[in-house]
Amino acid sequence: MKRFIYGPVPSRRLGRSLGIDLIPHKTCPYDCIYCHLGRTTTKTMQKQEYVPFSEVVNELDQNLDILDSSDYITIAGSGEPTLYSRLGDLITSIKEKTHTPIAVITNGSLHLMLAMQCCFSILTDRFLILHLNT
Ligand code: SF4
Repeated sequence: MKRFIYGPVPSRRLGRSLGIDLIPHKTCPYDCIYCHLGRTTTKTMQKQEYVPFSEVVNELDQNLDILDSSDYITIAGSGEPTLYSRLGDLITSIKEKTHTPIAVITNGSLHLMLAMQCCFSILTDRFLILHLNT
């Protein structure tokens, strides 16, 4: 059974995109009224290891064929993925397992935090969803 990965799902930008979900449902720094996931239940900027890193890595190891056959590995899901405190470690681990490019879909709210610089310096791609409702 897969707990942290889903798909691959078809994406217009990314082709066959294998998703990785690391954050509990609607855990996000924002509560946008148009969010397709509904109201934010945990509004936070607190970075945590929300799911055990070792269990995520184990699941990836058990699905190496799917990692290799996908067009992209996309870290996204039901909360803001940059809240995951071991995001950089996870990206490094994925890059050791496969040459499939990696994307993080983020609202960008934590980008100015120094810790993000190491994560994103090793990424293939990252995508910001820009929120223009200031
Ligand atoms: S930032 Fe994204 S996930 Fe968070 S509430 Fe807004 S639309 Fe939803």
